[in-house]
Order: sequence, then structure tokens, then C-alpha cells
Amino acid sequence: MILNHLDIDKIRKQFPVLDQQVYGKPLVYFDNAATTQKPLCVIERERDYYLHENCNIHRGVHYLSQMATEAYENARKTVAQFINARQPQEIVFTRGTTESLNLLATSLGQLLVGEGDKVVVSAMEHHSNMVPWQQMLFRSKGELLVIRMDKNGVLDLNHYEELLKQKPKIVSIAHISNTLGTVNPIKEMIAMAHKYDIPVIIDGAQSMAHQVIDVQDLDCDFYVFSGHKMYAPMGIGGLYGKMEWLEKMPPYQFGGEMVDKVSFEKTTFNKVPFKFEAGTPNVGAALGLETAVKFIQSFDRQEVEAYEDELLRYATEQLSGIEGMRFIGQAPKRNGLISFVIDGIHPYDLGTIIDKMGVAVRTGHHCAEPVMTFFGIPGTVRASFAMYNTKEEIDVFVKAVERAANMLR
Ligand code: PMP
Repeated sequence: MILNHLDIDKIRKQFPVLDQQVYGKPLVYFDNAATTQKPLCVIERERDYYLHENCNIHRGVHYLSQMATEAYENARKTVAQFINARQPQEIVFTRGTTESLNLLATSLGQLLVGEGDKVVVSAMEHHSNMVPWQQMLFRSKGELLVIRMDKNGVLDLNHYEELLKQKPKIVSIAHISNTLGTVNPIKEMIAMAHKYDIPVIIDGAQSMAHQVIDVQDLDCDFYVFSGHKMYAPMGIGGLYGKMEWLEKMPPYQFGGEMVDKVSFEKTTFNKVPFKFEAGTPNVGAALGLETAVKFIQSFDRQEVEAYEDELLRYATEQLSGIEGMRFIGQAPKRNGLISFVIDGIHPYDLGTIIDKMGVAVRTGHHCAEPVMTFFGIPGTVRASFAMYNTKEEIDVFVKAVERAANMLR
């Protein structure tokens, strides 16, 4: 069922965690880029699984095992439809974005990256989309090429083109930066890489909850994401990959489930996606993820996007009046979050004080230290929004920032 207008009060009722006081103040939760809260339907789905369906999957002939297997495979179908994958088998369940990227650095790396080869990432990557490549390239004596960005947090596409001419083997870039909020022009960047026959991985950790993703339209080779940033439980996420790549790629981890025939002499492997799902998966969380997808789909996506954009615009406008305010990341296309520093004030001090006023934001380098180095700052204060946030909460947040800044000046 699609609601024809957003009823934020009604939405908030589905997130009991929001309805509490911290330090005697109503909680304002603006740390959604770190993890979103979970609606009751997701919590109940996981609980129901443990109450009535818990069983290991793909292994038993008995009733429960078959039910759990079917439910898990249905979850894969739901996720595939959500991002318009060609077939459910193109979805590999993982623990989340970090594991998906490690899988790719290991497996796709092994397939494509030889001694001295190059991989392209951007200057605004989360450590998860940088360190796995860097470490892999240390071993292969290769080179990490980094797309430059400007002071607004916009990638330099001319520089990107220059890097592509160096014939890297893989491009791996964030859809939306978790530090700057920049929405990268990934469709264009994917097409640019494809002109050189280079596969592209998109880190979608920050986009799945906020934007409609169509992997066929984007034509990305891989798209990776975390459930916990899209109203689903922790410990589940995924990797979409084009079947022709997944079939060619070697397994990432070895053990039960991912094998076909095993002897002491030799092992053959299961088909995609099971080849990449060694061991017992987090079945309950996968079912929670499916429910989270259905939860997101129960709204008009454009309306949610417009609402979240309005929260961002309003927060930017309200904060800009504060003395010494410096926004980090001013790309024309931003989504979901706002990052800033205030002259002479350490972001950590600011975050600690506003926490005592009930406001939860993230402070620090947000797992993107090179971004902080680029801007010459130790960290930022980051407020990130979800569909259940309100302008009233932004008012509380802005007042808290103002008061804290006055105390610290
Ligand atoms: N990439 C981006 C852009 C992120 O925002 C995050 C989470 N902050 C990650 C990767 C890592 O995600 P996870 O910790 O869920 O694996």
C-alpha cells in the first residue's frame, strides 16, 4: 500500500526508540548515516523468525528448514526487485557494505588485478572503500589512483578521465559521501569507465534508504549496501553484481554451503550466489531486511526524498546564521546529511555538549580521514536525517548548537 502523503507522526509511532528522553530531554536522533532506527515491523519480523521459524537453511529436509530456506530466498528476491537486478541470484547476502567491499577487493581483485595494476577510488571514500583496495594493492605492488575533489566536495571529472586513461582494472566510488553528503554523478562516471571497459563498483551505503536505485539503469557492475542504514537489522547487507562477473569471480571465503563436491584432493564450488555465502548466514536479519525494503516501498519514494531534501535545506538555512559556521561539503547535489565545523571549536566538544541537550549527532572523521586531511580539520559535526525526523527537531538541534558554541567560545 502506498500512502498518499507522509504522516510523520504516524511514521514515528513505528519507531518506539525515538520516543524517549536522554538526560531528561526528548531525544533528537540525527545520527542516521551511522545507523537508522528500526521500525516495529522489522523488529517483529526478526522476532517472529526466532519464535516460530528458526532453522539453518539449505541443509535440512525437514519442515522448518524448508520454510526458513524459502523465506531467505524470498528475501533475496525482494532485494533484487528493490534495486531492479535482472535476477535474484545477482544478490549476495553479506554482513554489510564493509564485507561486500572486502569480498570484491579479494575476489574481483584476484580475478583482475595483477602485479603493478591500478585501482581508482575517489577522494571522498569511506575507509571501507579505500583500505581494502590499498591493502590488496600493497600485496600486488600496484597503485591506488584517487579522483580529486574541489573545496565544495565535488569530484573532478576531468581528473577522473585522466585516471581512466591510465587503464586501471577497477573503479570503486561512493554514490553518496557519508562525510560531505555529495551525490556523485555515478551514472555518468559508470559510462565513462565503461568506455575503457573498466568495471565499476558503487558503494551505496548512504543511498539505499534515500534514493531509488535501479542497477540496470545505472549499468553499474556492482552495487554494495548495508541493511542497518536502511531501517533493517545490523549484520545484514548485500552485494549486487552482474551475473557475468559473479560467475567468473573466485570464492571469497571457504566452508559449508559454498561447495559442490569435496574430497581431500579437490573441491568444486556451488553456483552463484551460494559460492559467495560460506557458512551459516544471518537468516533472521535477512528477513528483517526484506521487511525494511517493504517498509520503504510502502511510501511514495519521491515524496520521502523531497521531504528529506527539505529537512536538509531547512537545517542548512537555520545553521548558517551561527557565528563561525563553516559547512564541509557544499556540492550542489547533496543528500541526507550536513557536516560542519565552527571556528575555534573542536567538533568533539560541541557534540558532547549537545548530547547532554538530548541531541545525537556524529562527531569525528566519520571513517574518512583523508577527507579531514584535505579540509585541514580534525573532524566535523555531522547531522544526518531520516524520514522520521522533523523541522521541530532541527529547531531544537540548532538552538543546542548555538548554546554550545556560546559556551565554548
Ligand atoms: N561506505 C559508506 C559510504 C558508509 O557510510 C559506511 C558506513 N558509515 C560504510 C561504507 C561502511 O558500512 P558498514 O559499517 O555498514 O559496513
